[in-house]
Amino acid sequence: MTALKRVFGLTLGAAIAAVAPAQQPNKGGRQPVEPIRLVKPGLYLIAGAGANSEVRVTGEGLIVVDGKLGGETVYDDLMAQVKSVSNLPVKYLIVTHHHADHTGNNDKFRAAGVEIIGHENLKKNLETYRANPVPAPPTVTYAGTSHTVRLGAIEVQVDHFGRAHTSGDSVVYFPDLKVVAVSDVVTTGATGPLADYAGGGSFAEWPRVLDSILKLDFDACIPGNGGVLTKADVQAYKAKIETFLSRAKEAVRNGVPKDQLLSEIKTDDLGWMPRVPVVDPFYAELSQK
Ligand SMILES: [Zn+2]
Repeated sequence: MTALKRVFGLTLGAAIAAVAPAQQPNKGGRQPVEPIRLVKPGLYLIAGAGANSEVRVTGEGLIVVDGKLGGETVYDDLMAQVKSVSNLPVKYLIVTHHHADHTGNNDKFRAAGVEIIGHENLKKNLETYRANPVPAPPTVTYAGTSHTVRLGAIEVQVDHFGRAHTSGDSVVYFPDLKVVAVSDVVTTGATGPLADYAGGGSFAEWPRVLDSILKLDFDACIPGNGGVLTKADVQAYKAKIETFLSRAKEAVRNGVPKDQLLSEIKTDDLGWMPRVPVVDPFYAELSQK
């Protein structure tokens, strides 16, 4: 049984490794934009057609988080859902990292006069991003750890807590609602976390990012895909990442060859397979500690 699971795990790992380097969104491509749903008064979630998008309604306009996969239909459908809850214009689009399932319609938001906010590392990652077309860069970047967006007496905090999914991850916190949108720093279901090493991601630093998220005062967490989570869900997810990491470090300490590392780490009890597109930087960061 164990051998069978191991073989299956290896095959799955190899398949993921084969498709992951391009860092294309691996799901959602043909999914339609889903109907908008209320998370808490003033905050909405739109799933489908790439990553989750959030809409924060203020008295002076809308703040949208992540604009889905690129395409005229996707953009039009997304905007139709947005307009179904408010006629006010979108003033800001916050993009949580460079992947096209979050940034695909940057150009259209930009053309509509929307200010696009992202971390400076997001902009850098776009320069080497192997996507066609490469999404348009943000119009405003922040370099440090935090950036505040204020609109119509509403405050939204855009935080960069370090490297995890990429080096340009932003976590979007709605303090008055106690909701945090964490994008692909938290994955749900059978989809394992992906450290996009080409985009500066890091499994070794991931738990520290989750620690910072858990210090925020929230009771609802919106992941990059899937439904709304609780704080306890995020704590449980962090524990699993730590288990995976400690097993990986132990394997490196025991001298497991690099090419066998991923297949040697036990993951069947985690409920997902971590996605490590390139083993060298993963192995290197594990060897440092
Ligand atoms: Zn991503």
